[in-house]
Amino acid sequence: MTARGVAARSKADRRRVLSSCVIPERLKDREAVHTSCRQVYLGGDETPASPSELESVDGPDGRLSGYHPAMELTILGASGAWPAPGGAANGFLVRTGGYHLVLDFGMALLPNLQRYLPHEQIDAIFISHEHWDHCLDLYPLFLARFFRSDPLPPLPVLAPAGVFDRIMAMEDEEGAGEIRKSFEFRKVEPGVDFEVGPFAVRTSLLPHWVPNLGVRLEAENRALAYTGDTGTSRDIETLAREADVLIAEASWLDGQDEGRDPYHLTARQAGIHAVGANVGGLVLAHFWPTNDREVSREQAAEVWEGPLTLAEEGLVLEVA
Ligand SMILES: [Zn+2]
Ligand SMILES: [Zn+2]
Repeated sequence: MTARGVAARSKADRRRVLSSCVIPERLKDREAVHTSCRQVYLGGDETPASPSELESVDGPDGRLSGYHPAMELTILGASGAWPAPGGAANGFLVRTGGYHLVLDFGMALLPNLQRYLPHEQIDAIFISHEHWDHCLDLYPLFLARFFRSDPLPPLPVLAPAGVFDRIMAMEDEEGAGEIRKSFEFRKVEPGVDFEVGPFAVRTSLLPHWVPNLGVRLEAENRALAYTGDTGTSRDIETLAREADVLIAEASWLDGQDEGRDPYHLTARQAGIHAVGANVGGLVLAHFWPTNDREVSREQAAEVWEGPLTLAEEGLVLEVA
């Protein structure tokens, strides 16, 4: 199934996209169908949506007015290692009800986030691991919060401990104290279940150069799993079992993993894990910036026949 995201500028166009959703026959027997047809570009290279446009079309927080999915995923950044031109490194906004959780906060994520949500409305952030393409923009977020005239309550940031050390090291001792006031750092131990807002959260330590937490979010009878950065592992499938959507890193293409440490996935390996986990839909993300994403799609599609979406900044998906 190909992505049906379209560049729609008017409310009428967007409604047409939403109402034109057709579930392919072969998918109707699935218990959980990832309605990847319910995709709307709110931004992107072809028709960038200005903040004022978003306001007039979608309401103050960028949400589609008149339609409120139980769980909604907005792609904020889709590059691994460093941002592709005009893009951002890894990050995803997950909304349930009025709650806004951001998964990973990589380079250039803050500018994209603010196209869809005022940063003050983030309720919590989960960081998979300490590499900069997953957490660097916590620093400009700190600055945006620090320079407000009216202080905000500390923002929960849930992460492996190494993330906090990295961010604090960007300031001197006094500045680090301010960072501590701005964020409420909550260290997450792998495999420990917890709740944040409306989400039941599970984590799993997945193989990477540094501790990386794959995460599964459940709320409103929906389940979304995200790998962070990882090599192949059965634990991915345990974590993502029967999830409605799996966001899997797909850093490499076939052959690019040869001779390298086994700590990233090829798109094909992501597809194999999606099959093993029997998920409803697969979103490929964390593309190496110099790779052709359409080749990633082709290679994943050779092993995964279900709904397949390439992550792209500005893409909005209903998790269902
Ligand atoms: Zn990464
Ligand atoms: Zn990494």
